[in-house]
Amino acid sequence: MNRLIILCSLLAFSSCKTETKVEGIANDQLQKPKKIIFLIGDGMGVSQLSSAYFYGEEEPNFSRFPVVGLIKTSSTSKITDSAAGATAFSCGKKTYNGALGLDADSNRIENIVEFLKSINPQVGVGLVATSSITHATPAAYYSHVESRELADEIMLQLIRSKVDFFAGGGKDYVFKRGDSIDLYAEMQKAGIDLDTTAMLKRNWEEGSRYGYLLAKDGMPSAPQRGNFLLRASVAAIDFLDSRESSFLMIEGSQIDWAGHDNNGEYLKEEVLDFDRVVGAALDYAEKDGNTLVVVTADHETGGYTLAGYRSEDGSSRNYDSIVPSFSTGGHSSTLVPVLAYGPGSELFSGIYENTEIHRKMLIAMMGLE
Ligand code: MG
Ligand code: ZN
Repeated sequence: MNRLIILCSLLAFSSCKTETKVEGIANDQLQKPKKIIFLIGDGMGVSQLSSAYFYGEEEPNFSRFPVVGLIKTSSTSKITDSAAGATAFSCGKKTYNGALGLDADSNRIENIVEFLKSINPQVGVGLVATSSITHATPAAYYSHVESRELADEIMLQLIRSKVDFFAGGGKDYVFKRGDSIDLYAEMQKAGIDLDTTAMLKRNWEEGSRYGYLLAKDGMPSAPQRGNFLLRASVAAIDFLDSRESSFLMIEGSQIDWAGHDNNGEYLKEEVLDFDRVVGAALDYAEKDGNTLVVVTADHETGGYTLAGYRSEDGSSRNYDSIVPSFSTGGHSSTLVPVLAYGPGSELFSGIYENTEIHRKMLIAMMGLE
């Protein structure tokens, strides 16, 4: 993100007396959140989200959002990967697949965490994922590399970043590295209190950073990892509660992996797990009153369809049973949903580019002054 351009465009807005609206909302009517909880369901297209309505036992938490939109997910390719998709959210720029925190010409670009911390170092930042914490989606909030595959380097950049709290997998990138850097010593130097055994809340100390790495690489799938994502998210929310302002990114990473596997059962469990966490974020936001919750996806994975039953020869159909089907083992370019709740949520309705998520979050937080 180019801060100069943002500040200039903000100034341009405020210096123009006739332009008092942003996304159709009067600037002085816009409520500004102090906190953002941003939930990314990796690979969660409209069908994936819909699955919660057919397979869940209760009304999904997705129903609790008053504002709904859709985003276009392309990177500089027609179909994005998770690195470029996450960079669009974190930095507000389209880039090439595989890139993290770099623009299409491989220039380093500032991400929202760096921007918010530069304005106010006290802003609390947390990242939670069910992948390795070095995986593409979370990595876009602290790293700048030409390839998402550089997990050792990405972990080093996490330690050197200003992220205050992180939870996910990725122990191997600390303890089994391909180089000779002692990352555990680096972590201690950086004031990171690391737990590799359990997802427990701690007596958070001011000024300390907290890390949880609970798997060698990615976390196990939903049934095996139990309520890890919920506990990690609740711990992050608890850690950030005392901060006046904060940014928390939570990723349901494996909705995407289930799509790649064309595995409907795995997908269903991952979406339901993610929806429970969405519920916890909303519960907090309802109580807090100053928290914006945004849920979206970087792209759709699998060409997942809640199809009706059809016999192999096509002669018989049954619209009373759903047989999940997939059209690809990769990603697709379908638009994906955006849900928003809380102050500033009005900004997120409509159909727009993935990079707008970044801009809308900044406008919500900073306003147009
Ligand atoms: Mg991901
Ligand atoms: Zn994927």
